[in-house]
Amino acid sequence: MQPDASTDFLIIGAGFAGCVMAERLAAAGWHCVVVDRRGHVGGNAYDETDAAGVLVHRYGPHYFRTNAARIVEYLSRFTGWHAVAYTIKSYARGRYWSFPINLNTFEEYLGRPSNSGEFAAWLAAVRVPIAAPRNSEEVIISQVGRELYELFFESYTLKQWRRHPRELDVSVCGRIPLRIDRDDRYLTEEFQALPAHGYTALFERMLAASGGVELHLGVDFQEARQRWRCRHLVFTGAVDEYFAYRHGPLPYRSLRFEAESFSPGQLAGREAIAGKPGFWQPAMQVNYPEPEVPLTRIVEIKHATGQQVAATTIVREYPKDWQRGEEPYYPIPAPDARAAYQRYVQLAAGEANVSFVGRLASYRYYNMDQVVGMALAEAEKLLLRYGCPIT
Ligand code: FAD
Ligand code: UDP
Repeated sequence: MQPDASTDFLIIGAGFAGCVMAERLAAAGWHCVVVDRRGHVGGNAYDETDAAGVLVHRYGPHYFRTNAARIVEYLSRFTGWHAVAYTIKSYARGRYWSFPINLNTFEEYLGRPSNSGEFAAWLAAVRVPIAAPRNSEEVIISQVGRELYELFFESYTLKQWRRHPRELDVSVCGRIPLRIDRDDRYLTEEFQALPAHGYTALFERMLAASGGVELHLGVDFQEARQRWRCRHLVFTGAVDEYFAYRHGPLPYRSLRFEAESFSPGQLAGREAIAGKPGFWQPAMQVNYPEPEVPLTRIVEIKHATGQQVAATTIVREYPKDWQRGEEPYYPIPAPDARAAYQRYVQLAAGEANVSFVGRLASYRYYNMDQVVGMALAEAEKLLLRYGCPIT
């Protein structure tokens, strides 16, 4: 059956990759059709107000951060920002710890006050000297030694990835900072903020900006390619799915989210733990590194959004194996997985007039800002190639 409609660009996926591409191409005057098989825009960054009235991130917490002024400038065309110093805790040995590891953590470990000098000397004594760490175990033991590695990283990573840190790239655990002062922010990037009215509002404004984007939700790639002829296809889903798993499925890790809401009445008694009324736990995220606890983290995003609402919602996150048909949340950052992906890179290179953009299309453990950067670069490339339409 021949498609009966046509568009300049057919974009599969309405997450950051798809929305940025659509906004840029439509701003230049091209007609774009964006489809997503989900019933909403935003991909994994989608947020919504739940039945308790709390703004939640449906697919896990999304802490926007970046060092790229260009990305902030671009996104600021569609949103204001709510600055957040993202702070979390780790729960182990029956208590909360300051995390990532910093001087407060060291004092908690010692059970008495200390200072940066003493902490630095202690680290120098326990560190395993490894000049060029080759994996996630080596990078952490070379920073903090075995005991803290085992306490905070080893079992958490095994739960999260079902792989030992030795089998994962340096970048996985290496992205967690270590500080000898009291700075306990989870992230290192200069700009740390959430969209003032949430991610979904940001995506909606982006798609509406030029008037040239047609959005179809609940439509998947197979249906879309039957319905629309296009000059160029932008695919932001999983690259192995695009090729019908010709070289077998790539490895992914999936997640199960379990949300629970609490009314102010149900929160009575939690204040001693949360430290302030209206909250369930003492930080926006508490990590559970111990192997006996099946979940990895509990997120109470209200700490970060600053939303003024009496109820609260927590989301428990359980890692799980990925099966075909389920959400492939995480590509696996490991040498064998990357090698398997290379076979799809070769197939992708042979596709004329198709761009593969985004986290799953490029099989990369990318943050949102990196995906925005990737989409901006690809849109620029396409605009150089196709120019602007003659009106
Ligand atoms: P996605 O957001 O996955 O969007 C792709 C879209 O394409 C989806 O909506 C999907 O339904 C659609 N799609 C796929 N295949 C098809 C098909 N065949 N037909 C139709 N539609 C299709 N990044 C940060 O910067 N900070 C964080 O704190 C952070 N936390 C995260 C927490 C979790 C649990 C996860 C999984 C990711 C997190 N990320 C975070 C990463 C962030 O989600 C991604 O960088 C970003 O969402 C990638 O955007 P994307 O458009 O590439 O992909
Ligand atoms: N990690 C860990 N213990 C923690 C937090 C993180 O071992 O308490 C490791 C784990 O392997 C995780 C990685 O560091 O996958 C990156 O953590 P981050 O919180 O950035 O992961 P994401 O938000 O991407 O799931």
